[in-house]
Amino acid sequence: MRPVLRLLPVIAVRRRLFVETVAWSVVTQVAVLTITLGLALVVGQVATGVPVSLPAVSAALGAVAVLAAGAAWRESWVSHGLAYGLIGILRGRVFAALRRALPSRRQHRRTGELVTTVMGDIETLEWLYAHTVAQTLSAALVLAVSTVVSLSITPVLLLVWVPLLVVGVAVPLITARGARRNAEALSAGAAQVRSELLDTIRGMRELTGADALDAQLDRITDDTRAHAVVQQREAGRLGVERGIADAMFALAAVGAIAVALQGSAAVEAAAVPLAITVAVAGLGPAAQIAELLRNAGTLRESAARILRALDEPPAIDPGAVAPGSIAAHPGEAGLVFDGVHFSYDGARPVLDGFDLRVRPGEIVALTGPSGAGKTTAARLALRLWDPDGGSIRLDGVDLRALPDDRLRELVAVVPQSSPLLHGTIRSNILLGRPDAPADDVLRAARAGGLDRPDVGLPLGLDTPVGEHGAGLSGGQRARVAIARALLRTPRVLVLDEATASLDHEADTAILDLLNGNRDCAILLIAHRPATIARADRCVRLTPAAPRAAVRRSEGEG
Ligand code: ATP
Repeated sequence: MRPVLRLLPVIAVRRRLFVETVAWSVVTQVAVLTITLGLALVVGQVATGVPVSLPAVSAALGAVAVLAAGAAWRESWVSHGLAYGLIGILRGRVFAALRRALPSRRQHRRTGELVTTVMGDIETLEWLYAHTVAQTLSAALVLAVSTVVSLSITPVLLLVWVPLLVVGVAVPLITARGARRNAEALSAGAAQVRSELLDTIRGMRELTGADALDAQLDRITDDTRAHAVVQQREAGRLGVERGIADAMFALAAVGAIAVALQGSAAVEAAAVPLAITVAVAGLGPAAQIAELLRNAGTLRESAARILRALDEPPAIDPGAVAPGSIAAHPGEAGLVFDGVHFSYDGARPVLDGFDLRVRPGEIVALTGPSGAGKTTAARLALRLWDPDGGSIRLDGVDLRALPDDRLRELVAVVPQSSPLLHGTIRSNILLGRPDAPADDVLRAARAGGLDRPDVGLPLGLDTPVGEHGAGLSGGQRARVAIARALLRTPRVLVLDEATASLDHEADTAILDLLNGNRDCAILLIAHRPATIARADRCVRLTPAAPRAAVRRSEGEG
């Protein structure tokens, strides 16, 4: 249960609500216990002829019943406020951790697994925070009270009652290992099916085109069936355990009743109803604790996955470079790659001593065979990762010395397929600078050529955009992405095959527009000779393995 225990301290953030939840839970349990035991006491007294003022008892127990109802409502309200608040906090922490870690050098996590963690696993904790911690504390209190009352009636009662309760509660502990295996298989299966579904929905058109959709759906069906088998196994385990626990609890109640009714057990006649009631009253909390233990495997698995996301190492280590150890290069304008070494896996170099300078107002084309490391260089310019050696500088300042938000203002990268979100063309351009005035958006849209009649957008900036840019052509998507980048008026613009989906004329028109921007250094990653021809200079990058050979064109330096 270590992962669950590691997530419990988050409760401290909402300490007041937690204390209130525990308090109301205790009030509810004590009130219910008072009514139950009070009634049993009265029945015993009436049965043995002890005079009892029934109106007074009814009034008192009625008042306690109202208190119990009010406390139960309040406890439910506060505990859910606590749980949803904590879930929000945890979700925020997981998002922050993923944001730091997700541009991981190794893409080892699938989206479905992340969605399962961010949505499903955190929801599971709602049960922990809202229905478990405080309630287990108050259940333990009721058990303790029941035990003490039983003891005060006769210790024989406890000899029958306690061992059976202990067995009922302990069953989940005995099967804990199997429960944990099931929980692991269940969460892995759910993540697998979710990942496959997301992949399939995203690639639906391509899979249909390649006549591979049926095969993919068959695979999902098979995995869903395999998942259902594990679900059924887990449901079976829960059923058997619940059955055993319930049998133990029923035997405990029957044993207690037998002891209470047996004259030789030294239970006074007036205390018989109380003895029976107290034995039954203790069963509820025992069942509650057993239920918690039964679900411990699932809770543990969810907590472990959340912790894995929280503990994911950041893509860049802010503490790796000591302050003051980074040399500044005053007077150096533009973007500079200076002897940059980089490898994704620490073994196979992708960039090996890469040098490049792009001055403001200059368009430099970066070409080279597929896999040579061009996109990698673009990602390094955005500081998704730090180079393993050498440095990347902007206007003489090492990227590692620039605050993240400042760097994102200064450098814009437009990949070949930019992510577009559901909304309009305007809302997608605004992602570049959400507070940009309308005039700036219009200017950026013009610079991307979105106002041209031949682009075919009669609704202009109000044209609706579907998920992943659905409803727009490849060329329209590329223009929106370029406009979005230009809205930020960056000092460095990297176009990574961004105009590859445009026809030659449109490609040329955009590059001509960009050519007029003398403040911006433009790195143009391209394969098409006509595009490369628009650049001031061309640098060819050759694959680094086994050793790098970066050939520079004339004038490079
Ligand atoms: P292309 O012209 O095909 O786009 P490129 O020159 O842009 O290729 P990169 O995408 O930078 O090449 O890839 C360089 C090398 O790094 C390739 O061998 C690629 O397989 C590898 N690579 C790219 N991204 C990752 C990653 N996230 N993890 C591990 N290896 C990667």
